[in-house]
Amino acid sequence: MMPSRHPQFPRIPVGVSSCLLGQSVRFDGGHKHNSYVTQTLGQFFEFVPICPEVAIGLGTPRPPIRLVGDPLHPRAVGVRDPSLDVTEALRDYGQRMARELGQLSGYIFKRASPSCGMERVKVYDEGGGMPNNAGRGIYAQAIMQALPLLPTEEEGRLTDPVLRENFIERVYVHHRWQRLTAEGLTPRGLVDFHTEHKYLVMTRGQRHYQALGRLVADAGKEDIEALGGRYIRALMAALERPATRKRHSNVLMHLMGYLKKNLDRADKEELLGLIDAYRRGRVPLVVPLTLLRHHLRRSPNTYLLRQHYLSPHPEELMLRNDI
Ligand code: SF4
Repeated sequence: MMPSRHPQFPRIPVGVSSCLLGQSVRFDGGHKHNSYVTQTLGQFFEFVPICPEVAIGLGTPRPPIRLVGDPLHPRAVGVRDPSLDVTEALRDYGQRMARELGQLSGYIFKRASPSCGMERVKVYDEGGGMPNNAGRGIYAQAIMQALPLLPTEEEGRLTDPVLRENFIERVYVHHRWQRLTAEGLTPRGLVDFHTEHKYLVMTRGQRHYQALGRLVADAGKEDIEALGGRYIRALMAALERPATRKRHSNVLMHLMGYLKKNLDRADKEELLGLIDAYRRGRVPLVVPLTLLRHHLRRSPNTYLLRQHYLSPHPEELMLRNDI
């Protein structure tokens, strides 16, 4: 494994559709190289490339397949020869990989694929009617069903700055949880994890933070593994919906409250002005956050310095420059 150039963010394992890395595994012998995935995310993610269609023995090049039938339970069959049905093979392979790849912290799927597509995959009517866009690739469905906590995204949606930041934030949260539980979850560990993610959770709304807090309050009173399972399911579900500007602004105001005593009037006005400009959509999140971190460096606050909200993913990804 290549070392990360960022000590705070070691390279983490993320599954990826092989064709996105430029591997010539598509049905036509081509690839769908995505340079954001390889050149940008590749600096921080240790990709585990998987092509389910090659893995089940279809070979390259191969006859194309597509989804047909019920959009909720489609079958993957040959476009030219519908008697070629690889539904079970793709599903079985997905279930096997989910058992073998439990260490993955995230997964990037190729969009629109009858095997790897995560959503809006075309499902054709066997009677020849118009295709429905409500399908999911058979392999992707097996992976997502077997690993419901795993953050997943499609490469096409990574061009949206909000979805991109949200996905990568979830990958890092999931990875921190995997590291914590690999060491053996303890009541203290759960309380610390919750404390350090407080303001990240607050960007999804106070009610999520309070609900998670009620779970953590039972740490030490009930089986920690079961409690931890409930906690991480609720946390990952809360983080799935991207944070809004309004909620980020509320969190920034909260954080500013800790520094108030150390800021003079001009400092306060400047920071408040930038938080307001961010809330109105005039500047990206990185602008008020950079000033806040500047003040935090001048007046360190140990509680705030523990907050992952201030640095949830590597700076070099510049994910908060566009949201
Ligand atoms: S989309 Fe999935 S199945 Fe299709 S070539 Fe890429 S990795 Fe293989």
